[in-house]
Amino acid sequence: MNRGRLFVISGPSGAGKSTVCKKVRIDLDINLATSATTRSPREGEQDGREYYFLSVEEFEKKLENNEFLEYANVHGNYYGTLRVEAESRLDRGENVILEIDVQGGIQIKEKFEKACLVFFKAPSEKVLEERLRGRGTDTEEVIQLRLKNSLKEMEYEDGYDHVIVNNTVDSSVLDLIDLIKKEGNWQ
Ligand code: 5GP
Repeated sequence: MNRGRLFVISGPSGAGKSTVCKKVRIDLDINLATSATTRSPREGEQDGREYYFLSVEEFEKKLENNEFLEYANVHGNYYGTLRVEAESRLDRGENVILEIDVQGGIQIKEKFEKACLVFFKAPSEKVLEERLRGRGTDTEEVIQLRLKNSLKEMEYEDGYDHVIVNNTVDSSVLDLIDLIKKEGNWQ
């Protein structure tokens, strides 16, 4: 049996990746790995659905036990992909999406040569800032930090296999579905 394919979706915060990935998961009935993080839940987020929300101690314990495929410190918090969220599914021939930052994307490419790396970006810096503010869930300090990091993340675009410009959620969902249909394992 062929192994499933790993799809890594990265790009600046506020580019709209999460919304698009959630829709693609439903439309394509594809696995979207739930990451672990030490950041606090935002309003409406549930443990085990958006993320596994862990304390720093819990996260570091899992790190010691080699439970992560990759991990990174993003905007001052730990984020990581748990092996159990991906490995057995890939072995069963299923495709898996990871929505992770660029540092994680690079680690995945080193371990999984065949991973398909997709870079999501907002149409412009101005739109990116508007989207970050429009979310209304972060403080000004957090928004400024995320904006600064976003500009740094843009430098990684060249290392990615594909780029999707997130003009609207609907157009990006269609672009990502097309790409996964073409590049995924469907046998
Ligand atoms: P947020 O706090 O807005 O949910 O996510 C912040 C950033 O962390 C986003 O760029 C997101 O893609 C990234 N991220 C989420 N989960 C993971 C993960 O498991 N590993 C890594 N490296 N980054 C992650």
